[in-house]
Amino acid sequence: MKPLLEYEPVIGMEIHAELRTRSKMFCGCAVTDTTVAEPNTTICPVCTGLPGAMPAVNREAVEQAIMVGLALNCHINEFTSFARKNYFYPDLPKGYQISQYDFPIATEGWVDVADENGAAHHIRVRRAHMEEDTAKLFHVYEPREVDYTLIDFNRCGVPLLEIVSEPDMHSVEAAHAYATKIREILRYLGVNSGDMEKGVLRFEANVSVRPVGRERLGTRTEIKNLNSFRALTLATAYEIERQIAVIEAGGEVVQETLGWDALRNVTFSQRSKEHAHDYRYFPEPDLPPLSIDRPWIDEVAAVLPELPDAKYARFVADYGLTPYDARVLATDRAVADYFESAVKAYSGAPSSVAKWLSGELFYLMNREGVAIEAVRVPPEALAQLIGLVDAGTLNQNSAKTVLGEMFATGGSPEAIVEAKGLAQISDNDQLTAIVAHVVADNADQVAAYLAGKDSVFQWLMGQVMRATRGRAAPDVARQLLQDALEAICDEHKGHFDSEAKAK
Ligand code: ADP
Ligand code: MG
Ligand code: ZN
Repeated sequence: MKPLLEYEPVIGMEIHAELRTRSKMFCGCAVTDTTVAEPNTTICPVCTGLPGAMPAVNREAVEQAIMVGLALNCHINEFTSFARKNYFYPDLPKGYQISQYDFPIATEGWVDVADENGAAHHIRVRRAHMEEDTAKLFHVYEPREVDYTLIDFNRCGVPLLEIVSEPDMHSVEAAHAYATKIREILRYLGVNSGDMEKGVLRFEANVSVRPVGRERLGTRTEIKNLNSFRALTLATAYEIERQIAVIEAGGEVVQETLGWDALRNVTFSQRSKEHAHDYRYFPEPDLPPLSIDRPWIDEVAAVLPELPDAKYARFVADYGLTPYDARVLATDRAVADYFESAVKAYSGAPSSVAKWLSGELFYLMNREGVAIEAVRVPPEALAQLIGLVDAGTLNQNSAKTVLGEMFATGGSPEAIVEAKGLAQISDNDQLTAIVAHVVADNADQVAAYLAGKDSVFQWLMGQVMRATRGRAAPDVARQLLQDALEAICDEHKGHFDSEAKAK
């Protein structure tokens, strides 16, 4: 049924990002990949909350938080402090989480994004604050036995940055673009891998709707633990529809915390406002306030890498890439670095490198599930390969074959061309002889062509390519084939003419 009023969705996001530091937020325990490491091996009295253990702030985590704050155009607060957020849950051994409350490290930033339809969105970042991750629970359901839960404290105390936006997104697409941009920036900074399936990046979407034109915000719900982009888009779209239906039916949206059921594609209530947590925040007595002076901020700012938007603009301006190619190559820092190294080693136009990288190499990477960091083709070798095409040593198809071999073995293009005998044949005499063979061996097709069936030409070209195992220089071969066919045509005509004259 078509709604009576038109509604505008309002979305604000909270993003939890684990920081990729060597040690945990408040102790010296190593930060490990919790999907791989043996459970409960990187723990100590501090992160397991034993009485009397004293936390100390990890400088590297603070620096990474400053980096993110700067990249999100935030104000970095010179006075910042920690607070206890109290709640009781088995994954929280201390009974509280050390977080930041009144004095977060970064405030009042923004990001500009373009969504998949090309629409631009300016999204304000309210704050980013430091905290610690919780332990991981594994619920085990055994048929006919007692259910139980396992707990892994390795993740407990891992530095976490919570990035909170203003409610500035008004479509699912805008929310998706914002989340994508945050992930892209975190990966660029090297502070988070962006591996959603490992849980190092988690989204929470706050959703409300209001009639178009109304200023006041509607009542919101909060969807917790969205662990993929798919869950984020499906859940927000579902929630927008659900809320509109509630209002249209004369009801009221209830403020509550929701979960997302990824099997049934519905949101479900986890707790209502009446049962909302009262976290009883108070200043963390075991940690003094942290002052971050200007010189420290400047030091971090000085080593901030070029960010994706700046790199994108530079790729267009300096290398003459199309906006599309520039976007594709600037989105991932490792890809961008690879591209620039290859351009440096190559004497032709950077757009050729862009074409081979985003075309053929990406194809191989996708097919084999290999990330750019693990690709066995060094950027210089890709440049060499393209050089061989430019020099006429390889045709396009053979070059693709050579790249496939380079990708599989890590070999150099010259060595592979040599070993596989893939060098292009552009020698006139050699190709003339091959074309003559093809024409002689396929009299029926030649006759069909001469009778006006133009499409047979391609088939004959295919035969020439086959006879040379794909190595013929296509332009030369095409010309020679054309010449040969024309010669036969003339001959026939001449024959026909002399027959006519004889009568
Ligand atoms: P809390 O601390 O209880 O989670 P906040 O007011 O700090 O609530 O907001 C958390 C997130 O919810 C922010 O990203 C904010 O932009 C968003 N938000 C707040 N009110 C609304 C609303 N009415 N509709 C959509 N999002 C909202
Ligand atoms: Mg919240
Ligand atoms: Zn520890």
